[in-house]
Amino acid sequence: MAKIYYEKDADLSVLEGKTVSIIGFGSQGHAHAQNLRDSGVNVVAGELLRDDNPNYKAAVEAGFEVMTAADAAKRGDIIVLLVPDTVQKIVYEKEIKDNLEPGNSLMFAHGFNIHFKCIEPSPETDVFMIAPKGPGHLVRDEYVKGAGVPCLVAIHQDATGDALTKALAYGCALGGGRGGIIETTFKEETETDLFGEQTVLCGGSAALIKAGFEVLVEAGYQPEIAYFEVMHELKLIVDLYYRGGLAFMNYSVSDTAEYGGLSVGPRIITEDTKNAMRTALKRIQNGEFAKEWLEEYASGGATFQKLRDADAAHPVEKVGADLRKMMTWIQ
Ligand code: NAD
Ligand code: MG
Repeated sequence: MAKIYYEKDADLSVLEGKTVSIIGFGSQGHAHAQNLRDSGVNVVAGELLRDDNPNYKAAVEAGFEVMTAADAAKRGDIIVLLVPDTVQKIVYEKEIKDNLEPGNSLMFAHGFNIHFKCIEPSPETDVFMIAPKGPGHLVRDEYVKGAGVPCLVAIHQDATGDALTKALAYGCALGGGRGGIIETTFKEETETDLFGEQTVLCGGSAALIKAGFEVLVEAGYQPEIAYFEVMHELKLIVDLYYRGGLAFMNYSVSDTAEYGGLSVGPRIITEDTKNAMRTALKRIQNGEFAKEWLEEYASGGATFQKLRDADAAHPVEKVGADLRKMMTWIQ
């Protein structure tokens, strides 16, 4: 079983007199900066100082001292890299690396760049992760309510001997200690995160929806009806899983749906599907996926664009766009 830390396990005094530099005031950054400030931590923000950058404006309006990533790295004792994963390496090399002093900490909210060695900080830097298991707005809203989104904690490098103490203090200042902070490693967080998004959350669910839609439409059913059955209603089911797992979903649907689901589901997701998942996991573990994605991104993303275009052209998207206009509560 995983080790879980709570507020009682943390010592927030290690953050006293320290400056936390939140680099990137986006989805995660705006929540981290505000939660830490409200917890009494001294915070500065690093952003792209451009008038057409809404997140720069948001940081200024929220009352933060906003500066470039380089200046924020210079100022901070704990430097938190919350820019997109695809630009972390370049921001680190151009703006952060030379501004780190021995004993400073570098923090991440996702392990990709450290685990795949895109960023290799000097051995004098503490390197840790606090990864909230939720989007930034939820991290902020729950904190304001007096609760907190559970987080993961991982230590990659402990130069000072205090990396875990600092990480847990940060996690609690963020509100994570109220929900629980689960111990993991950069390797486990990165590999399982990629696996989840590829096989179940994004890739798997989208492929399942498209396949179900295609089968119904091929058989002569109306696309509008197919859309409701295989995409729209998925939300209702996922909400039940979210609230109470498989049991609550099965309890809430009709006996017919429950029996049909239990008996037919395993004939749809078969051992072949699991073998394809195992292959996807191997390609994540051996670095093949990361290499492919980094090369794709660096070369301009032509294949990525083709894949996006193909999804956009799928008939489920056309009929869905029309039907969602009928459902004003969604907008
Ligand atoms: P985001 O895209 O919402 O925000 C990134 C911000 O970085 C933007 O405001 C952008 O202007 C800024 N930025 C880009 N280049 C910069 C530079 N050179 N200097 C200063 N600022 C710069 O990013 P996000 O989704 O919050 O992701 C940040 C990290 O958090 C990633 O590692 C991601 O994997 C992780 N994470 C995200 C979520 C989520 O819900 N979005 C959840 C868990 C972990
Ligand atoms: Mg994730």
